[in-house]
Amino acid sequence: MKKLTFILLLSLSFSGISQNRYLHCGKLIDTQKSEILEEMTIVVSNDKIISVKKGYTSPQNSEDIVIDLKSKTVMPGLIDMHVHLELETNPKRYLEKYTLNDADIAFNSLRFAKATLEAGFTTVRDLGGSGVNISLRKAINSGKVDGPRIFTAGKAIATTGGHADPTNGNRKALMGNPGPKEGVVNSVEDAKKAVRQRYKNGADCIKITATGGVLSVAKSGTNPQFTVEEIKTICETAKDYGMHVAAHAHGDEGMQRAIIGGVKTIEHGTLMSEETMELMKKHDAYYVPTITAGKEVEGKAKIKGFYPDIVVPKALAIGPQIQKTFSKAYKRGVGIAFGTDAGVFKHGDNGKEFGFMVEAGMPAMETIKSATITNAKILEMENKIGQIKAGFIADIIATNEDPTQNISTMEDVVFVMKEGKVYKE
Ligand SMILES: [Zn+2]
Repeated sequence: MKKLTFILLLSLSFSGISQNRYLHCGKLIDTQKSEILEEMTIVVSNDKIISVKKGYTSPQNSEDIVIDLKSKTVMPGLIDMHVHLELETNPKRYLEKYTLNDADIAFNSLRFAKATLEAGFTTVRDLGGSGVNISLRKAINSGKVDGPRIFTAGKAIATTGGHADPTNGNRKALMGNPGPKEGVVNSVEDAKKAVRQRYKNGADCIKITATGGVLSVAKSGTNPQFTVEEIKTICETAKDYGMHVAAHAHGDEGMQRAIIGGVKTIEHGTLMSEETMELMKKHDAYYVPTITAGKEVEGKAKIKGFYPDIVVPKALAIGPQIQKTFSKAYKRGVGIAFGTDAGVFKHGDNGKEFGFMVEAGMPAMETIKSATITNAKILEMENKIGQIKAGFIADIIATNEDPTQNISTMEDVVFVMKEGKVYKE
């Protein structure tokens, strides 16, 4: 018996944080029931929530810690479905692909990851970089550096000359001939190979650029860039490897092809027609609006020289349209997955998206559900994150105000706990 107790004590002291933490929450958002509960206690043991109870309960054990959030509104850690942790907008951005080594990108991404976590985003989906984002995920998950839990697409898949062809805009001598390995495909066979290569590289999901994009050095921001057959092959192959597919899309035709092809999320969705909204509902696809990025590119396009000349008219036309489309799509019943495209704007400003969504007609509680429970479901993490519930991972944040009263409080998250560890208090 004595021996057993000893082993038990030994295993407890080696299992990480030994004290339980009692979080006294003035207000607590129940994302499942869409309710705001008052005077609640969350008990966290190691990286898990072990109970959520009414009233402020005191710890039994003198080693346990009370965290006072009585004046705060507490909610689950937020999930952003569209970030780029390798980069951040700046006027030299277009030169950086010739000047930065992977190590430079990696050091930059550490700052971006930290800013994201401190803004209350404990989980993100990284929709494309050079592949450093895969190493970043490994470093964060193994506890070497601070940042959100990452699901990453690695390098996005495009077609020749398409948005995310890595040699777009280069002089001929530097164009090379990127193929499936680099994420450029031009046939069904290429499509299979590109997906399998991403799996091999360690990606968690697949990103395709179904239409032209705003920031690429190319004329069209909206044209379809894949055939339906290519997209179908990408989605089927991805499914074989346990991955879902996200499609960047501004133009309507490319968007329809992506939805018919089987993608899970449509990113930006700028010129989405009513017919396409219905198609999304029918195929159970989610809309990731990225309104913040739209507003950012419109603003930056007005600063002379910030973007290349070919980008400016695209940014001015597409940028301001996204919020209007989001408003229509939400009212029509399209599933909304919170996502911002952070990196196109400053990392850590992700919370601005909530205000833009509310401004466009989505109630505050719905925006928070979108950034927690909905996104957890898309990531197949619905039994682990997105709710404050016994058995769930202890990803918990707090704001000074109740976001249903003042949504701008989401831009100023004051407490962040990820996997039971406090990163901001
Ligand atoms: Zn993006």
